[in-house]
Amino acid sequence: MNSAARIPRAVRAIWSALPDLVGGDWPLVERELVALLDRSDAAGADLDAIAEQILRQLAPYQAAQQRLLQALADALPDEMLKGEPDLGPPRTANGPSGATRGMPRRSANGRGEGPDEAGAAAPAAEPELAEANGGDAEPETPAAAEPRWILVWVADAAEPEQPLHVAFRAGAVHEIAVAIGPNQEGAIAAVGGRPFDEELGPVSDMEELTVTFLAPSISMQQTGSLFLPRTGTSRRVTFAVKLPDDLDRFDAEIRVHHRNRAVQMARLSGVVVTDLAQAPPGSRIELEVATIVPENADLSAREGADVGIVRTEAGTTGVADMDLVGFDDDRLGRVVREGDLLDILTELSTGDASRQRKLEDAVDDFRALVFQGCELYPVIGKPLVETLGSRPLDRLQVLVDERSDFFPLELVYDLPVPAKDATLCPGWKTALRKGTCDKNHEARGGELHPRTFCPSGFWGLSKVIERRVVSNGSWRRADVPEDFEIAVRLLFDDLP
Ligand SMILES: [Zn+2]
Repeated sequence: MNSAARIPRAVRAIWSALPDLVGGDWPLVERELVALLDRSDAAGADLDAIAEQILRQLAPYQAAQQRLLQALADALPDEMLKGEPDLGPPRTANGPSGATRGMPRRSANGRGEGPDEAGAAAPAAEPELAEANGGDAEPETPAAAEPRWILVWVADAAEPEQPLHVAFRAGAVHEIAVAIGPNQEGAIAAVGGRPFDEELGPVSDMEELTVTFLAPSISMQQTGSLFLPRTGTSRRVTFAVKLPDDLDRFDAEIRVHHRNRAVQMARLSGVVVTDLAQAPPGSRIELEVATIVPENADLSAREGADVGIVRTEAGTTGVADMDLVGFDDDRLGRVVREGDLLDILTELSTGDASRQRKLEDAVDDFRALVFQGCELYPVIGKPLVETLGSRPLDRLQVLVDERSDFFPLELVYDLPVPAKDATLCPGWKTALRKGTCDKNHEARGGELHPRTFCPSGFWGLSKVIERRVVSNGSWRRADVPEDFEIAVRLLFDDLP
């Protein structure tokens, strides 16, 4: 292999170290490098030009440049040996903090810059090097098929070298790092359900994933991103979590989104103790993967959504590109539980009018539903509309926990609040069929409220909504798909 072709591979091999080595400019450099790496994968790529541009990108950052040269030197013996990548012990030898910390600690782990450490550095570089082999004549390695999972490393920030597996420490700041990769020693892996790649589906190299970390007991919602290589372990995203002195148990939910759609979720939990030696026997920090019922796909698979909403007992969040939308769960619960919404839905779906399939006869119930939709708008609709701004908000994915409250995204009504005695919009039939209506829905001059209400105001008709369900019971097994019907959608479908 010529040297130009080895440079993209070497960049992947040192990917997890680059943020520290490049420093504050990393977001910009990262974007450039990801684009260059993507280009290098294309058939007939001009590898010489790409290699030159990669070197130019890293030239201002001496430590990064040196590290790259070291990786190139380290990789040579491997290529000569054509060794099988061993994704197990060599990687974990880096320890949980290896990928996210600065150079000194990495040197201590045998991944340093000194030429005398070249032999020790080589194994760590192998997994990433293996992934870049696709376009070469070299045989496909077993690593390509290794299942990957949500991985978590927990450490007390004061002792980052000592991963915590038994319990969390009361009063301590914890560093909780999340990555996607093969199960490996030192990491806590969310195995038991479907591997991450099966949920994700086929994607190209270096896909950006958004990771949301929710810890309701300490009112924390954070988000970060990582890039998923085709095989091997991604770079880690680390969340700093300060636990109060008086917490008995810590629970967090980790949500991984791809193009805004939630791909997989895991729950991290464990007891919190002052002294680890006094943790109850058998204590263990656990990571459970959520059982997500396979999608009833409105969105064609993998196309992505404009926003991905997840609602569980841990909280309700929306991910829209780099934005995290937090919803007011208390207020939402009040609208859903204490309002008339459920009564109206019950009447609409069981009353005489519903049985006769005549919307005209159900107009009073329907109007009442519109008023409920108007109350839902400021709680569910507005935070999304304001966050998305001028970006499209047409395709929404919502993932709900069966145990959480009803989340009536489809019933959000975004037309002006109608008058108390408003009548059905003359365009209602078209609205039901097409989801849009060209009639006027605004109040006329001198009137506070429009005289009509229209089905096109409901998000269930005007937007494409994909709904997925986290099954109750176990969060570990995803073997058994369950039927799930969405009453609201069926109602709309059946009415006219
Ligand atoms: Zn209308």
